[in-house]
Amino acid sequence: MRMILVGPPGAGKGTQAAKLIDTYKIPHISTGDMLRAAKKAGTEMGKKAAAFMDAGNLVPDEVVIGLVIDRIAESDCKEGFMLDGFPRTRPQAEALDAELTKAGVKLDVVLFIEVPDELIVDRITGRRSDPETGAIYHLQFNPPPADVAGRVVQRKDDTKEACVARLQKYHSETAPIIPFYEEHGLIRRVDGNAAPDEVTARIKAALA
Ligand code: AMP
Repeated sequence: MRMILVGPPGAGKGTQAAKLIDTYKIPHISTGDMLRAAKKAGTEMGKKAAAFMDAGNLVPDEVVIGLVIDRIAESDCKEGFMLDGFPRTRPQAEALDAELTKAGVKLDVVLFIEVPDELIVDRITGRRSDPETGAIYHLQFNPPPADVAGRVVQRKDDTKEACVARLQKYHSETAPIIPFYEEHGLIRRVDGNAAPDEVTARIKAALA
């Protein structure tokens, strides 16, 4: 299965991807995770991306497109992949389309997790992750267990200021990819305003 997870920042794409990969047995490819890893490793690309990311801006298309094209060419993506956080602009969607056409394969589904803007800021500013396992928590809605609580960290771009910028970018740059995939009949909409397990059940129903 070749699928894309799309939705506003904080919609639960990463949380849902982690829950879905066991079922669908395909690699989870998160451009945000790849860029954070490059930033942490101090690579040239990571250094270039850091300022954009920390301010809640998008990393330039040419950087992200190259990253994803190389990743989906790897052997573990032969039977499919789950893209999370890519494409985020119309040029990214078109570049992916061209690459898949060249490879003679097609996308199966674009899963659109919908969450209203007014819920996003609370979701994002309360988000924390476990640096040891990568597990994602929320201080109020999904608190980390006591043995993990002392080590959770907040993403640098999960502040209120960066969140507002990310939400604006989502509406101006990312939302326009929805009609692109709608034209291709690939969109499945899922209401993401529920507890994580309930959203997973809705996704599975939508994909069945
Ligand atoms: P995420 O973890 O998906 O929220 O991504 C974190 C940050 O990484 C975003 O706010 C962007 O700065 C950058 N980023 C991730 N994916 C992309 C993409 N497809 N295009 C541009 N920037 C991206």
